[in-house]
Amino acid sequence: MDSQTRYSDAPHHGFSLLRLLGFGRKPGEPASETLLHASGEHSSQGQHFADIGRFLDQHGLPVTAVTLTVGWAVLTRTDEDLVLAIDRRIRSGRGLNLEWLEDIIKRRDLTDEAAELRGLMQRLETSVEEFSASTREAHGAASEYHSALSGQVNELEQVAKASAVITEMAQIGKAMLRRTHEIERQMLRSSAQTRALKRRLDEARRESEEDHLTGLPNRRAFETVFESEYRAAELVNEPLCVVFCDIDHFKRVNDEHGHDAGDRVLRLVAEMLAQVSDDRCHVARHGGEEFVVLMRGQTPTETQVRLDKVRSDLAGRRLVNRATDTPFGQVTFSAGVAQVFDYSDPRAALQAADAALYRAKLEGRNRILLADAQDGERKLAA
Ligand code: GH3
Ligand code: MG
Ligand code: MG
Repeated sequence: MDSQTRYSDAPHHGFSLLRLLGFGRKPGEPASETLLHASGEHSSQGQHFADIGRFLDQHGLPVTAVTLTVGWAVLTRTDEDLVLAIDRRIRSGRGLNLEWLEDIIKRRDLTDEAAELRGLMQRLETSVEEFSASTREAHGAASEYHSALSGQVNELEQVAKASAVITEMAQIGKAMLRRTHEIERQMLRSSAQTRALKRRLDEARRESEEDHLTGLPNRRAFETVFESEYRAAELVNEPLCVVFCDIDHFKRVNDEHGHDAGDRVLRLVAEMLAQVSDDRCHVARHGGEEFVVLMRGQTPTETQVRLDKVRSDLAGRRLVNRATDTPFGQVTFSAGVAQVFDYSDPRAALQAADAALYRAKLEGRNRILLADAQDGERKLAA
């Protein structure tokens, strides 16, 4: 399936725009012209369409499902992450093109799928926990029933000789005892199955939080750790820094050596960055050739110095593509560091680190810059 078919079918932000343009219209629904001009509301939709056309024209973009989706997102600001990425790209002076937009939309779709999977897993986990609790409860009840019955059966047997009726009742009681034994065994079996299911769920959750290429935590796992470290550092008044790293000219590595070689370079950079990690420093793959680092208890300058060792180590290596024996040339990365508590929330700090990273790119790459006033609005000192 090509990317255009994929996006025109998919239920994402661009969908309403595609509907507005008449794609996917149901039989009997008015044609797009009617939708665009029939009322005041529709004429403002017509204005949206014209604005999107101007946006595409301004950036020399062709009309495709992806560019329309992006145009819609920019115009309505319904997808802040996408708008931010586009803004960044334009500010970095590299302009927009179809290949880049398709890549970014594809990556965002994958993130959406991961979110959906996580939601499903959480729901499944809740059901398993509820099931496990009711199994325990039922098991407890069956055991109580069992001991009560067994006491009564014994008593009944003592006086059984007195009456045939009582003997019969004792028989019934014994049959019931056998049945409760059976229920108990079933309960034990199902609680073993529940434990196995929980183990499998835990494994699946771990997998959904790991980046398969590099083995690092993925963006989702990073967001969780960012929230908890934020709260913990805030509580004890410790500094917390976030770093955004991006491999320089990585597209060239792919173009010149192929995607597999690009993957090997990505793994190497991930491995080198991971060496700085410990229980107070977390490294994750944010997506593509971008990594994030969270450093607790270190000032921005200390953080910069620590990561700069990795940067200069990588830049000093002469990497060779072992599949073809050709040199990769110098592989470097750029980064931006922001002190999290200088900003209103973790997201704003990450944006400031990202803005500092893009200044590092503009200033020549292969460097790590600290975020300053031009990289985002800082909170006033208390
Ligand atoms: P800059 O220095 O400005 O960051 O330039 P760049 O070439 O690194 O940046 P750009 O964003 O233009 O290209 C990033 C490339 O990374 C494009 C994309 O195909 C590639 N990429 C993203 N994820 C992967 C991956 O998992 N494996 C490989 N091999 N390439 C990837
Ligand atoms: Mg990048
Ligand atoms: Mg890059």
